[in-house]
Order: sequence, then structure tokens, then C-alpha cells
Amino acid sequence: MHELQTKVSPPHRSLCTDCGVSRTSNPKQCATACQFIQPDYKTFEIKIHGRARSSNKVDELHFGVFNQMHRGVLKKPSAGAQWSGITTRIAEKLLQSQRVQAVLTMQPDPLDMWRPMPVLIDRAEDMHKARGMRMGYAPLLSLLEPALKLGYKRLAVIGIPCQIYALRALEKSLNLETLFVIGTPCSDNTSTENFHQFLNLITPNPGEVTYLEFKANYHVELRFKSGKKKEIPFLQLPLSDLPKDFFPLTCRSCVDYTNSLSDITVGYMGGEGEQWLLSRNEKGDELLALVSDEVKLTAPQSHGKRQSAVLGFKKNVELAAGGLPLRKMPNWLRPIVGWLMPRIGPRGLEFARTRVEMKAIESIIHLRREMPSRVKNMVPSHFWELTKNYGLQPSALEIVRELESQNEALEP
Ligand SMILES: Cc1cc2nc3c(=O)[nH]c(=O)nc-3n(C[C@H](O)[C@H](O)[C@H](O)COP(=O)(O)OP(=O)(O)OC[C@H]3O[C@@H](n4cnc5c(N)ncnc54)[C@H](O)[C@@H]3O)c2cc1C
Ligand code: SF4
Ligand code: SF4
Repeated sequence: MHELQTKVSPPHRSLCTDCGVSRTSNPKQCATACQFIQPDYKTFEIKIHGRARSSNKVDELHFGVFNQMHRGVLKKPSAGAQWSGITTRIAEKLLQSQRVQAVLTMQPDPLDMWRPMPVLIDRAEDMHKARGMRMGYAPLLSLLEPALKLGYKRLAVIGIPCQIYALRALEKSLNLETLFVIGTPCSDNTSTENFHQFLNLITPNPGEVTYLEFKANYHVELRFKSGKKKEIPFLQLPLSDLPKDFFPLTCRSCVDYTNSLSDITVGYMGGEGEQWLLSRNEKGDELLALVSDEVKLTAPQSHGKRQSAVLGFKKNVELAAGGLPLRKMPNWLRPIVGWLMPRIGPRGLEFARTRVEMKAIESIIHLRREMPSRVKNMVPSHFWELTKNYGLQPSALEIVRELESQNEALEP
């Protein structure tokens, strides 16, 4: 197993989640590899999945290209995993079957279990050390060059969307024989330091917390070293007590919640208490087949209607981005709505669509306010399709890039 050797700070960039590219021998690659500069999802989708997402196929506009979508759970859930542990199990199987020589992923930092630490794992029996979710980001891709130096030609990478975008941009130059990409969705991430502040606000015993998850039942689940569990309704979280810059602009303006460039996405949003799996191409199908005996798959369900929840969210983001006080719910109403939401709010796939639309709205509003010149380069065209029903459409300046690329495509 190989860990990141350097703790040196990366060069400063204004929008950056330190995915690791700036720490490679050629940091200039950031200019073309970065999700926050000029991403080109359409071209990458065609290259990786054989086609771009289709607005004619149900849910592709929201979730990206997929061959198969399931709700799933490991028949024998793995203790210590974030959900049932499908991600770790797929990676174990890849190593056991020698389809890959190593898996690039994150482990908990030995000094702080909430801090992700990049590692290259080359033995299936070590994969369990990477289970679970850490809050924050760390330079995963800085271990690509060491992996190549070790002679690895067949790799798997597990990562969050901003890391996977950069990986796909570098993929060709790595000259690998095989690359499998297992992606998890990601949203509302922040630095590990900020996350500790949040933990301090939600529990008097932050040092005892071993697990935290924002669940599809509108609750945050906490688990403690004692074995005790606690669920806090979203509405009762002290979000208004967090500093204004708690979530960095990167994570407020991120445009790929569902990790659309992975071969398989393993999340929970559309899973109603189980996991949610999107196999996006043939490699994704191969990864899913590796665990087919061990995973119980069912068809995802969908309940409720998202429009009013998304519209209410948009109004609040507009107020918050403009520095105005949020429309706060009276305290007496919170427990009632908190009880009602898991019962009548959007659930299953409708919950996933709700979250994807909210994220698209949030990204556009925050970028327009804080870095308006980036909108035309950073916001992919499918985002505008997702937000148009909520009155968010691009201005003439914001669609310049799309017109330019259309013109380029028309040139002889
Ligand atoms: C910050 C963050 C936010 C997320 N938000 C959502 C969400 O909104 N909706 C949703 O459906 N899913 C989200 N996920 C994914 C979800 O939490 C689970 O990781 C996923 O469902 C896989 O569960 P599992 O039991 O299969 O994973 P496990 O088998 O426990 O494996 C988890 C894998 O994730 C890797 N990992 C953990 N933390 C990080 C990190 N900080 N950066 C990079 N890799 C990491 C681990 O190294 C491990 O390989 C998020 C993940 C992260 C890291
Ligand atoms: S490519 Fe990675 S390291 Fe470079 S600027 Fe973007 S997020 Fe930062
Ligand atoms: S929210 Fe987006 S930008 Fe932030 S860490 Fe997750 S994938 Fe990266």
C-alpha cells in the first residue's frame, strides 16, 4: 500500500479542490483538466460512454448517461462501510480477479479519521481500510504518477466528481492498459476543518462520532463509539449558525453531482434507504457483474412531487446569495414538517431529481453572484434544461460558449 508522501500545500488557485493535478510534474495540466475552468461534459460523455446524455431518455438529463439503474444492497452489508459497502466490494473483486493491479482511493488520515488521505491499494485484503465517508477533499490524483512509476498498467480509481473529471481529462496521457472508474455522488462538501465546526454544533460529543450521513429520509444519522445512533431532521440542523463561507464556492458551484463520467456511480440518493447504482457503459456493467451474486437489486421507485420544494429552495438561495435573511420556518412548525417530509416529500428517484435540480440552481445563482464571467464556461448546457422550469435561463452572454462550439462543429 502506498500513501501520499507530501503534505506540502499546492499552488493557490481560486476555484480548486486540490484534486492532485497541481501536484503532478506538470501542474499546467490544470488548465485543461479542471472541472472549474472549462469543462466539456458532452465531449467526454461521447468519448467514455459512446454517446452524450439524451433528453429523450427518462432521467438522463438529471443523472447522466446510463445503461442500467438499480436500487441495491449487499446481501451481507459490510460493517464500517458508508452504506452497505458495494463500492469497496467491487474494488476488492477487481483486485482479487487481477483485473487491476491497484486501486487509487482514500483512507482516513491516521491523525484525523474525518480527513481523507489518498492511497494506492494493491491487495484485496487491504481494501476494507478505505470504507466509509470522510468529509473534505485530498489530492487523490497526485498518486497517479507514483502508480505509473511502480509499473501499474491496470488501475481502478474511486473518487468524487471533481476528481473524476480531471482523471478523465488525463486518462489518455496515462497510457494505461485498463482503467475502471467507480464514482460516488458528492455534494455540500467542505474542508475537513469546517466539517469539525459543524460536528461541534450538532453534538456535545463530536469526538465520539464515528459515522455521519445525510440520508434520503431527510435526517442526518450520527453513530457514536458507544454504538448509540441518533437521527436529526434536516430542518433542525443549525445551518444558519454556520459561517457564510462554510461551503467553499467550488462545492456551491459544482456541476456534476452524480459523477456522470464514472463507469459506475454508487450512491444512495435514489435508493430510499438502500444504495443507488447507475452503470453507465460496458465497463460499468462488468463492474456490476462482479458483485451480481452478492448484491440484491430491485427497480428504483419514485414518489411525491418535487416542484414546490425546488422552488422554495431557489427562493432561499437567492435571498442567501444576496445577503438577505432566509425565510425561516417558525420553530413550532419544524418538528411537524420534519415528521411530514419523509412521508409526503419527494422520495426515491424523485428525491434524487429534486437534489440534482437544487444543485443546478444553487450553482448558477452562486456563480452569477460571485464569478459571473465563469458562467458561460462552467455551466453545461443540460443545466439550463434542468433550471428553465424554475425561471432560470441563460443570458445572451452566458450562452456564448455554446454558440461558439456549435459554430466550430459546423466548420468544414
Ligand atoms: C463528501 C461526500 C458527499 C457525498 N454526498 C452524497 C450525496 O449527496 N448523495 C449520494 O447519493 N451519495 C453521496 N456520497 C456518496 C455516499 O456517501 C457513499 O460514499 C456511497 O453511497 C458509497 O457507499 P458504499 O457503502 O458503497 O461505500 P464504501 O464501501 O464505504 O466506500 C466508500 C468509498 O468512498 C471513498 N471516499 C470516502 N470519503 C471520500 C472523500 N472525501 N473523497 C473521495 N473519496 C472518498 C472511500 O475511500 C471509499 O473507497 C457522498 C460522498 C462524499 C465523500
Ligand atoms: S485540476 Fe485539480 S488541482 Fe488543478 S485547479 Fe482544478 S481542482 Fe485544483
Ligand atoms: S461538492 Fe463538487 S466540488 Fe465539492 S468536493 Fe464534491 S465533487 Fe468536488
